Amino acid sequence: MMVVKAGGGKGIHYEAVCDEIAALQQRGEQPILVHGGSHLTNELAEALGHNPHFVTSPSGFTSRFTDPQTMGIFMMAYCGKTNKQIVEGLQQRGINAIGLSGIDGKLWVGKQKSAIRVVENGKTRILRGNLTGKVESVNTDLLNSLLQSGFLPVLCPPAMTSEGVAINVDGDRAAAITATAMQADQLVILSNVPGVMKDITQPSSRISEIRRTDLEDISQTFAQGRMKIKLLAAAAAIDGGVKRVVIADARLDNCISRALQGEGTSITA
Ligand code: ADP
Repeated sequence: MMVVKAGGGKGIHYEAVCDEIAALQQRGEQPILVHGGSHLTNELAEALGHNPHFVTSPSGFTSRFTDPQTMGIFMMAYCGKTNKQIVEGLQQRGINAIGLSGIDGKLWVGKQKSAIRVVENGKTRILRGNLTGKVESVNTDLLNSLLQSGFLPVLCPPAMTSEGVAINVDGDRAAAITATAMQADQLVILSNVPGVMKDITQPSSRISEIRRTDLEDISQTFAQGRMKIKLLAAAAAIDGGVKRVVIADARLDNCISRALQGEGTSITA
């Protein structure tokens, strides 16, 4: 079992990801695909005159502030266009893909974090009304019954609270908890960078292997912004029993095969 997370940043082509998922299935793998949609969400928000609002926590993590209108746009981008385009692409390759968000069938249930501390212009303040949170449980019965019936699940945020409220959750961390819950051997996180780099402007500075014990140090020294969250997700997956997490470049041909052969950054216990 393998979980593949395809990012939603600029430059990611889902056609190539679909080719790779099809190739994996032909090799007898049983992948679950999790995807993002952040770039499209930003484009759609701007087109609709509702500019994206990113906030930074005191510990330096950046996230999207999600008010109800943003949640609507987020759903259009993730569950609407991106999820259905990927399902269409897989169906065209003969794979019986099924697209679900975390609210469908209570796939991903978690807690909402309505009030958050953010740093703006050097000052810390509290922002309320944020429809975000963190996945705490995965409906493995649902995923197992889909897999047993021959479907390939294509999953995306939002998740939901136990009261049924949709919450924006980080896709990398949702993929990590899914990999753990499904006892996957590997989690492949595809993004728009060659891997974790010491200098983000120098692809040759890619770190090819990281041991779990060095992960926090490497994150503190080299990762900025969203890469910090990917490394947190990687740590959670390894701690949850996943044998290997690979962070690799989605923009390359044969991106998943290359990732599995060691291109990118491989994280192990
Ligand atoms: P995705 O949408 O593909 O999940 P994110 O935007 O969440 O991707 O995270 C990937 C981004 O992390 C890269 O585009 C890059 O700008 C940023 N980043 C920060 N620090 C690093 C680093 N040390 N190595 C690689 N990327 C980094």
